[in-house]
Amino acid sequence: MRVEFYRHALDEADIEAAAQTLRSVFLTTGPVCARFEADFAAYTGLARCVSLNSCTAALHLALLALGVGPGDEVIVPAMTFIASATPVVHVGATPMLVDVEADTGLMAPETVRAAITPRTKAIIPVHLYGVMADMRALKALAEAHGLAIIEDAAHCIEAERDGVRPGELGDAVCYSFYATKNLTCGEGGALCTNRQDVADRALLLRQHGMSKEAAKRYHGLYQHWDMVDLGWKYNLGDIQAALMVNQLARLDGLWEKRRAVYEAYASHLRDIPGLRLPGLRGKSAHHLFTIQVPAEKRDDLLAHLGKNEIGVAVNYRAIHALTWFRKNLGCKPEDFPNAFAFGNGTLSLPFHTRLTPEEVALVTDAVRGFLDIVPR
Ligand SMILES: *Cc1c(COP(=O)(O)O)cnc(C)c1O
Repeated sequence: MRVEFYRHALDEADIEAAAQTLRSVFLTTGPVCARFEADFAAYTGLARCVSLNSCTAALHLALLALGVGPGDEVIVPAMTFIASATPVVHVGATPMLVDVEADTGLMAPETVRAAITPRTKAIIPVHLYGVMADMRALKALAEAHGLAIIEDAAHCIEAERDGVRPGELGDAVCYSFYATKNLTCGEGGALCTNRQDVADRALLLRQHGMSKEAAKRYHGLYQHWDMVDLGWKYNLGDIQAALMVNQLARLDGLWEKRRAVYEAYASHLRDIPGLRLPGLRGKSAHHLFTIQVPAEKRDDLLAHLGKNEIGVAVNYRAIHALTWFRKNLGCKPEDFPNAFAFGNGTLSLPFHTRLTPEEVALVTDAVRGFLDIVPR
């Protein structure tokens, strides 16, 4: 690859912290996870953080903790990653997909309102690419109809919109520390919340429904544990948490670097006929840099950039057009036209903290070349 799609920002201090954990006695969920949870809760401004092994697990436990189950409906935008919807299926509820705003790809409050039925239990707004959904409008809807809000903030730790941050108005907010996310340990996630009942339930269910976690069993005299509920195995380990304690302290600096890359891209790509940048709302967490091109050109542009050894991705094709959703939810592409068009026109360019101005120019020249626009 001449230009990598993504490079993580782990530094020697992070690697040394993980090495220290490896030299210690305790490798699983223990003191480092506790430290990370305290720091991450403080960063998000939320009362509690429960570290987990993925955002998918966080969404699953949030649904369970909020009492969502068989017979319930949960409203999910059609323009997202599949994991925003699959945990709804895993708890036995039905994902009710809704269309999105044409310019941002975000859940649109009016379409959510139209999708509410007596069975609706919760909504899952997705803060796509790092731009927050309209949480104030969604909160008003949720309050009027007695619905829970579970925010999918896999892209969105650092954002703010209308004076609101991720998790502030929701009952739970789910984060991902997957390999390409803004804060990463390879694989990891967290559920944050201001609700003590939701956090306590997630803590119990992340480790088999056992009454005592390993760290509590290890220290002091042996005490019997009990299995008080049927849970899962979703805990994060200290080796991974160790990679994120220092990284979290650098998070705002890393965001500044991505924002500078965003600005550089935007200045190169503005005012190109047939190319548009998704709309911003408030402060973006700047997780991905995506462009929108005409659907009939998108796959050829992907191939063109790939041939030029430029890392590219599609985040995402609308989920209602994927085989499983078509078969099991009976969706048709035209059901959610904005999401379908957005997913067919979107293309993600290389985006990370170490991208150089030369690389940005190389990428944008390749895009311009393909669209028959003279290079700068
Ligand atoms: C990455 C991602 C997830 C899933 O995160 P994992 O930690 O891999 O489970 C969920 N939703 C969105 C929008 C994502 O991008």
